[in-house]
Amino acid sequence: MDTLPADLLQDEPIFAPEAFNLTPQQAELTARARRFGKAVLAPRAATYDREARFPIENFHDMHGEGLLRICVPEEDGGEGADFTTYCLTAAELGRYCGATALSWNMHVCSTLWSGLLSEDLEMAEADRATHRARRSRHYRRIVEEGAIYSQPFSEGGAAAAGAIAFGTEARPVEGGYIVNGKKIFASLSGAADYYGILCTERTGNEPASRRNTLYLAIPAKAEGVTIVGDWDPLGMRGTVSRTLLLKDVFVPEDAMLMPRGVYFQAAGRWPHMFMTLTPTYMGLAQAAYDFAVSYLRGEVPGTPPVKRRMFPTKQIAVAEMRIMLEQTKALWFQAIREARPDPTREQVQRAYAAQYTVMENANALATKAIRTCGGQAMLRSLPLERIYRDSRCGSLMLPWTAEICLDRLGRDTLYKPGEKDE
Ligand SMILES: Cc1cc2nc3c(=O)[nH]c(=O)nc-3n(C[C@H](O)[C@H](O)[C@H](O)COP(=O)(O)OP(=O)(O)OC[C@H]3O[C@@H](n4cnc5c(N)ncnc54)[C@H](O)[C@@H]3O)c2cc1C
Repeated sequence: MDTLPADLLQDEPIFAPEAFNLTPQQAELTARARRFGKAVLAPRAATYDREARFPIENFHDMHGEGLLRICVPEEDGGEGADFTTYCLTAAELGRYCGATALSWNMHVCSTLWSGLLSEDLEMAEADRATHRARRSRHYRRIVEEGAIYSQPFSEGGAAAAGAIAFGTEARPVEGGYIVNGKKIFASLSGAADYYGILCTERTGNEPASRRNTLYLAIPAKAEGVTIVGDWDPLGMRGTVSRTLLLKDVFVPEDAMLMPRGVYFQAAGRWPHMFMTLTPTYMGLAQAAYDFAVSYLRGEVPGTPPVKRRMFPTKQIAVAEMRIMLEQTKALWFQAIREARPDPTREQVQRAYAAQYTVMENANALATKAIRTCGGQAMLRSLPLERIYRDSRCGSLMLPWTAEICLDRLGRDTLYKPGEKDE
């Protein structure tokens, strides 16, 4: 990639390594993602969006770049990136193709939950040994074969928000489980090799409990797996998030991505994990700003070199955009660096504030970029209108939608744990 022409190397990092005190690994991975995003993702993004087609070619190329294994531990042949390093790298990809970055997030999360997070959680030594052996098999597929994992958790009810147990059920049988259920918005549907689903283990007629959540990797080719429904959404069209039906699907026990009971522990003790959808949108926020600056300077490729920067209204709008971008970056950077097991209440509240800010500001910046740049800037031949549509999706994504962040932040600020009125 180092032989790229100079004009493909021009973008500045979102988080400059020296200014933000990045580690050498963070500096290297973000530079790799930026070069790859600009050279490979950006030129293809419009086609995937127009055709609402999954960017499978990007995933094959990401395997070659080492990006599919970014959070696989080093001892398993991966890059061993931690949560913060992943987020910073993902933001650079989101800048060039939101749908690829968001789909890639689903893949990487299967390695984060089972890797770095699991190491922070309690489990019996024997369970840990079994878990490490099982996850190594998953990781080998990713490292050696470029296998793609997804994480269809949503079901259309309250489970994805963490309010009730998942309706998708796993009944234990000899050697594994029989799984039945339905997942909506299954990004990477039809493209993933494994669907990493959350479901509830049920043995009899006992009430379904969130404590019995299982995290299983279901092979896409398993009997009983079907994909149904159309996919023609407003934005993030390349994610191809159709509906996944699971009908009496047999899954062997070693398909578990986390030992029994550990996902429930993780969801409570590692809340920052739910911020993993934000890096894509941090990248989109930067992209909207970058576009506006280039456009007003008359430098967007494919447009006449007309400068519009001399109007005071444009200068004020860009200044306001820059302030919003810097506020977003600063809060997000602090929040992703605070990710850890058992964060303080203040850290969790900051994470809600960061999630809300990134998801809302990405679209606010795109909206402002369109208003400021003007009519010609929103033509479909340019990326801004795609950034606008893609960025609108961020606030809708469970479990931390913009509304849920507001709801929890307000309540948790006004009520101490266990406090009630009367
Ligand atoms: C492009 C895209 C890709 C996606 N990819 C995936 C994926 O790969 N995997 C996956 O699991 N999901 C994925 N999703 C789904 C997403 O995370 C949500 O589950 C989905 O957007 C919820 O839509 P809904 O209409 O069913 O929301 P509803 O559940 O009907 O909720 C509507 C709104 O009500 C509020 N709300 C919901 N529940 C509560 C509650 N308990 N308390 C307070 N307020 C609440 C929220 O603000 C929510 O936005 C994707 C979504 C999009 C848009």
